[in-house]
Amino acid sequence: MRILSSDITSHEGKEVELAGWVGTRRDHGKLIFIDLRDRAGIAQVVFPAADKALLEKAERLRPEWVVRVKGTAQKRPKGMENEKLPNGSHEVAASVLEIFTEAKTLPFDIAGSGLEVNEEVRMKYRYLDLRRPRLQKNIRSRSKILGFIREFFSEQDFVEVETPILSKSTPEGARDYLVPSRLQPGAFYSLPQSPQQYKQLLMVAGMERYFQVARCFRDEDTRGDRQPEFTQLDLEMSFTSEEEILALTEEFYVALVKRFYPEKKIAQVPFPRLTYKEAMERYGSDKPDLRMDKDNSNELGFAFVTDFPMFEWKGGEKRWDAVHHPFTMPRVMDVNDFNIKFKEGPSKMLARQYDSVLNGFEVGGGSIRIHQPELLAAVFEAMGNKPEEVREKFGHMLEAFDYGVPPHGGIALGLDRLFAILEGEPNIREVIAFPKTGDGRDLLMGAPSPVDAKQLKELHIAIEEKKK
Ligand code: ASP
Repeated sequence: MRILSSDITSHEGKEVELAGWVGTRRDHGKLIFIDLRDRAGIAQVVFPAADKALLEKAERLRPEWVVRVKGTAQKRPKGMENEKLPNGSHEVAASVLEIFTEAKTLPFDIAGSGLEVNEEVRMKYRYLDLRRPRLQKNIRSRSKILGFIREFFSEQDFVEVETPILSKSTPEGARDYLVPSRLQPGAFYSLPQSPQQYKQLLMVAGMERYFQVARCFRDEDTRGDRQPEFTQLDLEMSFTSEEEILALTEEFYVALVKRFYPEKKIAQVPFPRLTYKEAMERYGSDKPDLRMDKDNSNELGFAFVTDFPMFEWKGGEKRWDAVHHPFTMPRVMDVNDFNIKFKEGPSKMLARQYDSVLNGFEVGGGSIRIHQPELLAAVFEAMGNKPEEVREKFGHMLEAFDYGVPPHGGIALGLDRLFAILEGEPNIREVIAFPKTGDGRDLLMGAPSPVDAKQLKELHIAIEEKKK
């Protein structure tokens, strides 16, 4: 039975079997040493001088070949221990070597951080890049944290619901990715910019507490450190308040840091809360960096920014747009109050919207939602939609709200950014297994790519050739 490299110390004196990748090979006179790497780390394997045939086979070994070794786990000779390795007191004296596969020389070194390697090359060979210890650690701790998220929210009585990927446009301020429908010629699905409408409909459905680790898709021009698809921890609650949502969010962050990053210090608990106005006046930013000591990489400056403006003027489109999204509750009493305040000055209206900020980055945002159908319709119209457009785009929401909708609200936390900050990484691509380039290309798979004429025909799509 195979054991892991980390287990060789507890198997001292026993016959063991290791399997993995050859790291380095060192020839020392008559002996050959290799570092064998598996998911737990590395183990030193020594091929003794006595077995000529075995030694000859071991001589062929090159980095990244995949092998199985059988042998005896033993203490290393005195003075040969490696204190840097948890199992550095031991090694395996091989008696059998099986070579599964050979490997070409890798396009780059995988021992270091990789940050010095051309990123396009790293992305093209991501499966090799992921072998490096830093990325192994990032992806593995991401997996553990995802497990923790499920545990934390399930314990708090949240229901995990998977919402559709093939869907209809939800306004989150970006362009939609469209998927043509074969069965409904000329019609398109859009990939969700977020599960916003579904999570609200789940509140109408009586779920009361929903969460999802949700993939979101936004077709934006390259803007900073973003990805066309990204992951959110998405939450929604019924009969709730700003206070409850922010307190829960804070409790989650504190528990997460305590469990996985005990060496990190949260600058202030309870997290500071500022209104948007205060943040802008005091820091000139709606995502202020509230760390006490910004050179201290172990400090986490969490904060909440609340009371954002409801509307912003979209000069290009000559209309008012929601700063967060149109489902956000404005600070008004009712629809009449809304109409009066909107006439008086949309730019002065506030929303029951909040952002979660960490070390100067926006890591999440949410709001209390509008649950009165007439107010929702008024907001859509205020944003420049004609009544028939409102019906066409959002009729399903307005209709659902006619059947008994609880007051509700929620938040979404951007997990990629959160993991990057917690892992001390310079960008979110370092914590995403298969990231895309700034211009949306997957260099490993070669996507996006042209498709067969037959596929296009089935989809009733014709490609217009670029005029030369
Ligand atoms: N759907 C929002 C977003 O993706 C989050 C929320 O309002 O809950 O930013």
